[in-house]
Amino acid sequence: MGIVVQKYGGSSLSTIEKIKKVAQRVVDAKNRGHSVVAVVSAMGKTTDSLLGMAKELTDSPDHRELDMLLSIGERQTISLLSMAIKSLGVPAISLTGSQSGIITNTAHNQAKILEVRPYRIEDALAEGKIVIVAGFQGVSYLKEITTLGRGGSDTTALALAAALNAMYCEIFSDVDGVYSADPRVVSLPAKLDEVSFDQMLEMAENGAKVLAADALRFAKYYKIKLYSKHSFTTTEGTFITDETIVRDIVAVTSEKDLLFVTTTQEDSDKFNLYLMEHNIFYRELWCNDGKTTTLFDTKNIHQYQHFIDEIKKFGFEYHENHGRVSMIGNQLYSNPSILMNALHILKTESIPCFGYHLSHIKCNLVIPKEHVDRVVQLFHQKFIESV
Ligand code: ASP
Ligand code: MG
Repeated sequence: MGIVVQKYGGSSLSTIEKIKKVAQRVVDAKNRGHSVVAVVSAMGKTTDSLLGMAKELTDSPDHRELDMLLSIGERQTISLLSMAIKSLGVPAISLTGSQSGIITNTAHNQAKILEVRPYRIEDALAEGKIVIVAGFQGVSYLKEITTLGRGGSDTTALALAAALNAMYCEIFSDVDGVYSADPRVVSLPAKLDEVSFDQMLEMAENGAKVLAADALRFAKYYKIKLYSKHSFTTTEGTFITDETIVRDIVAVTSEKDLLFVTTTQEDSDKFNLYLMEHNIFYRELWCNDGKTTTLFDTKNIHQYQHFIDEIKKFGFEYHENHGRVSMIGNQLYSNPSILMNALHILKTESIPCFGYHLSHIKCNLVIPKEHVDRVVQLFHQKFIESV
């Protein structure tokens, strides 16, 4: 039997009791005859509290030092989980990202994995050990500790699954799979038994938290069998596959912390140079009628207030407090009624629309942040529940 990579999210590891349960689940997989690599997140809200401490000291924490700080969250979990597994009488070893051979670029706080050299993991597996890897972190080719952006432990898991040629990768969390909408917003979302990589990627890129977008890119490229499952139950979960699901709309997702900056085409070079110098990434950019609009997720900008001050200095037009509701589906361009009905719903509710976009796989509408949850509910009713 081959290698299996499991990833456990922070809420499944938030207490010592839960760590013990996860230890048992990892050992069960080994007892089924697999070589097991378990990638873990920081316990509960540890990453948020570490970030909070840094923000108490300064509005603009140094990017390198922030990575040094954030990487300890996952280090705490690997050592505890390894101890828990050993106390079940099973050999285990904990490894940091760097010890696992996760080599990244130098973009602190949002590093990309360039290469995986999993030799230590392979040796430990060959010795019969369960290997516990700290997710979300790596080492740059300049030997600096880096982190992969929020939710980055998923990316570690999929990158390792690819490098180790794993049979499959299971992402365990406190939800039992991928749903047609966020259960905290919609009361009756449907669990999806299967979803395609492309649709899942669009969902992740447009606000679904269940799997990280970078992780899905690895999974798709390396054709990894990928499951999203509940950490503590044996329900089926969701299988993320390359087969096309023929269905108009499979899910409604949303985001709430968007910022739009509009510049003239001449100023857009100036702005892009600024973004490059400060390692600030945008989410989308489009140009229309001589104006360039750039979309940012404010959660990914560590020195947000400073950034807004700079935009004011440049004299660019900007809009804060926007959100976006996205419908993810298949061949949407062949069904104009989707956009028509969506706009009709907004009109009936007197909700202004800043802009919209439709492609084969997604239709999204930009609206004020305060209306996002309501619109998710209305779209879910109209396009998923009542079809
Ligand atoms: N601990 C990190 C976070 O909270 C990474 C992860 O959980 O995937 O974003
Ligand atoms: Mg996550």
